[in-house]
Amino acid sequence: MKHALLTALALTVLATASPSQAQTARDLFSSKSTPSSHGAHPVGRHAKGCLAGAEQLPETGPTWQAMRLSRNHNWGHPEAVRFAQQLSVAATKVGWKGLYIGDISQPRGGPVFGHASHQIGLDIDVWLLPPERLNLTRAERENISSLNVRSADRKSVNSNWTRAHHRLLEATARDSRVNRIFITAPVKLQMCADAPKTDRAWLRKIRPWWGHNTHFHVRMNCPKGAVGCENPAPLPAGDGCEEAIWWVTDALQPPDPNAPAPKKKAPLVLADLPRQCGDVLNDG
Ligand SMILES: [Zn+2]
Repeated sequence: MKHALLTALALTVLATASPSQAQTARDLFSSKSTPSSHGAHPVGRHAKGCLAGAEQLPETGPTWQAMRLSRNHNWGHPEAVRFAQQLSVAATKVGWKGLYIGDISQPRGGPVFGHASHQIGLDIDVWLLPPERLNLTRAERENISSLNVRSADRKSVNSNWTRAHHRLLEATARDSRVNRIFITAPVKLQMCADAPKTDRAWLRKIRPWWGHNTHFHVRMNCPKGAVGCENPAPLPAGDGCEEAIWWVTDALQPPDPNAPAPKKKAPLVLADLPRQCGDVLNDG
């Protein structure tokens, strides 16, 4: 009897252990709909970590709306939430009504569907669509699309790109809390062309990246004193304008058919993340 009970227990342990080992960190973190009860703390790196004590960006404010609410990705470190709200006020200075805010992080951060980063509550996607109204319903926030500012040949901006966009991205880059901004390369090149010859240091933070033609991605620095939060490697010196040309020349060439296929990265599992992320995940 005792033996049978032990066997049953062992089987139960096995049965519960194996599926959870197979579960990706993304599955585990996406199953949590509320933040952990810890103090606010980004753990690890923007693309490998989690977030303790997240705060939710209110769905609607005087100058912003959070989009795609069904994803429940409007959670961030309190400094990021504050920053998003302040940036939406700054948007009114360039003539916009405010901002449509896309994904920040999940309630406990961690790997998230559709992004490599956004894991520690310090990455914010901002739509390039100037809001026409800030009273969109939940359904409208699921269904409307943002604005594409890139030409069909992917080499330049199109007529959707405006001076107001430039001023908004410049103001974002000038903020000392911002580590870098990801945006489609044609925007970077256009901003390089339009920026005055002097006072261009802020341009370094505008980084060309794949996609990002309907939103820009703000990566914030680790908050002061956040032990265990790791900033990315520093940006290379210079304004990055010369280097950005590659993106509209070589990067657009068709891939060499004889080149080996790029290796697929295995999805992150919990053991890949900093150890504290287990506590964040399992709290409460
Ligand atoms: Zn993003």
